[in-house]
Amino acid sequence: MSDLKITALHKYYGEVHAVKGVDLEIPAGEFTVLVGQSGCGKSTLLRTIAGLETADAGTIEIGGEVVNDHAPRDRDIAMVFQNYALYPYMKVYENIAFGLRARRTPRAEIDAKVRKAAQMLAIDHLLERYPRQLSGGQLQRVAIGRAVVRNARLYLFDEPLSNLDAQLRDEMRGEIKRLHQDLGKTMIYVTHDQIEAMTMADRIVLLREGRIEQQGAPLDLYERPATRYVAGFLGSPTMNFIDASLERGNDALNVRLCDGTSLALPMARTAKLAGREGQRVVLGVRPEHMSRALAGDTRSGLVRYEARIDLVQPTGARTYATFRMGDTEAVAELLAHDVSQPGERIGLAIDMNRVILIDPGSDAVIG
Ligand code: ADP
Ligand code: MG
Repeated sequence: MSDLKITALHKYYGEVHAVKGVDLEIPAGEFTVLVGQSGCGKSTLLRTIAGLETADAGTIEIGGEVVNDHAPRDRDIAMVFQNYALYPYMKVYENIAFGLRARRTPRAEIDAKVRKAAQMLAIDHLLERYPRQLSGGQLQRVAIGRAVVRNARLYLFDEPLSNLDAQLRDEMRGEIKRLHQDLGKTMIYVTHDQIEAMTMADRIVLLREGRIEQQGAPLDLYERPATRYVAGFLGSPTMNFIDASLERGNDALNVRLCDGTSLALPMARTAKLAGREGQRVVLGVRPEHMSRALAGDTRSGLVRYEARIDLVQPTGARTYATFRMGDTEAVAELLAHDVSQPGERIGLAIDMNRVILIDPGSDAVIG
């Protein structure tokens, strides 16, 4: 059964049409990440689910019941906000216990729940402190603890990690994912960060300008994006997009770049592109699908491209190499010592099994 079902949902703020007809169904126990650029409507959608905003059209069902007219406290949800929203004059214990007290939970039960949640989040030694005596990461844990003790049907998180520094963010990412595994609750997590979305989600819902652009398992979206937008949104460094055209090769189709290079597509990729010979396309290549060409490498689908590297950026395990490809700058993610100096000329092997082809008119992925 789905814990949340949203049908044809619209939300306006005056003239601003923030949510433009969203349909979404979230099965019980799933960790769903709503991801998209700032301003695309993520918080609005989450706040409308929570009842903090009113839907202008459409229905929201939680556990099979339409809740459009239910107050937030009657929706069986718990929410964690970016700014923590803790009570400054209450100790950590009281902050976590607050929602339970408001629901007249027996004292002994409150105590057991608060201590269990605090232990799970490794803040059990902080229960007697005030929020001002805590670090950002500790505050975030208290905010999560307050949601966890609620035993709600649906847990909503709105960019809970964006105020933390990078290392702590990585750590908390893992912890929230583990928390989900331990609790098995339905969680909806909002972020603008594609790495957070990729690493945490059972399912990613990618929003763009108030609409769902694509949804699916993280690797589904990464490997089979439906549009150029999705292909470019997921992945870092971002996918390279090169203007090209399709031409007939010896037996398969070739992708021809404006610098005169022809890259042969594997036979298996050409069936879908039948009839598109001569058409303009955009070639999409992920940086990790270009490697330093090795002599005698005969794996099928690899084509050679001669590149003059003009920027070298080592990251440790990998080195990003920037070069001119066709009409644009491209980045290849090479092994650490594959290239050392700008100006070097090297042969790159492009894995044509993994590239995508985009129709420049519609931005849809066509092959
Ligand atoms: P996100 O969380 O994805 O960054 P929001 O849901 O906050 O985006 O905002 C979606 C759109 O709605 C934006 O254009 C934003 O400016 C607008 N918006 C959000 N909240 C309000 C509000 N209270 N009043 C007017 N416009 C708003
Ligand atoms: Mg937001």
